[in-house]
Amino acid sequence: MAGAVSNPSLILRVMSASVAVANRAGSIIRDIMKAGDLGVVHKDLAKTDPQTEADRKAQKCIVWSLRRRFSGITVIGEEEESEKEQVPEDLLEMGDFADVLKAQCPDKYKDVKLEDVVVWVDPVDGTKEYTQGLYDHVTVLIGIAVNGTAVAGVIHQPYYNYQAGPDAPQAVNPSSSCIGRTMWGMLELGAFGYEHKENPKRVITTTRSHGTKEVQDAIDAMKPDEVLRVGGAGHKVLLLLEGRATAYIFASKGCKKWDTCAPEALLHAVGGKLTDVHGNTYIYHKDVKHMNTGGVIAAYRNHQFFLSQVPKAVKDVLPS
Ligand code: AMP
Ligand code: MG
Ligand code: MG
Repeated sequence: MAGAVSNPSLILRVMSASVAVANRAGSIIRDIMKAGDLGVVHKDLAKTDPQTEADRKAQKCIVWSLRRRFSGITVIGEEEESEKEQVPEDLLEMGDFADVLKAQCPDKYKDVKLEDVVVWVDPVDGTKEYTQGLYDHVTVLIGIAVNGTAVAGVIHQPYYNYQAGPDAPQAVNPSSSCIGRTMWGMLELGAFGYEHKENPKRVITTTRSHGTKEVQDAIDAMKPDEVLRVGGAGHKVLLLLEGRATAYIFASKGCKKWDTCAPEALLHAVGGKLTDVHGNTYIYHKDVKHMNTGGVIAAYRNHQFFLSQVPKAVKDVLPS
């Protein structure tokens, strides 16, 4: 490959494969919407946590492709897996992304071994919004943790720019080059694929569908100029990366490791910070509990300010 480093490190190879596979997952997500049968099932009795055929098929594509390519790698996806299922070869994506392979791997990560790596996959973040036609809120998240730290990640937004063309979302041409975008990042290397604009206002982004009294109390204490209630952890961190929001506040349990691993890696790669309400960074070992019980406080800058504003009564009900 022109310009590629002759022997890229394992972590760059996993990242390169993750970008390619996230792009493929994005076309799967668009194709299923275009075909019109979402195959919705509910993962909870209250019917607040839907799963669609896009979640199922995109996850298979991502986890099976990465496992085929990196034999023995630990990949943890949001959706339940069936051991009996055969892997259809046409669902495997074995491509690479040249920009990643060309990157200079930071010294600290040059010798990362397969057994140090856990990949956290949210095949569709913002499923509820996907079913409701809020396409901008949907992302594919692939987070790469090394010895428990979120080190690298990919955020793919399959419907980015979908309103730019003459087509309605359902008519989006999956092969159109202007639909969708992929952001990737790594600690000590930076994050790529988007533009950041400084925002002079204090804009807080938060959940649109999992709000609680504590979430609202935390936001009120921060005296925001504006509150953006949108779906998806990936989408909210994207708003921080672009400067459309200054902090992401979710003082409640509900987010899982696959929601935060990739977004956290990109945010930390550009000097931002994502922690629980007590200021603890999340850990991403393979045996860690999936639920982020301490909530999410994330900011592009001045994380300490937002953290310091969380009321004690809110912290008291959220175990770390
Ligand atoms: P939200 O900000 O509400 O879109 O949530 C971000 C991510 O966390 C999504 O993947 C949600 O499904 C998940 N999440 C947050 N709160 C809950 C909850 N109470 N129940 C189930 N999933 C949740
Ligand atoms: Mg999610
Ligand atoms: Mg999901």
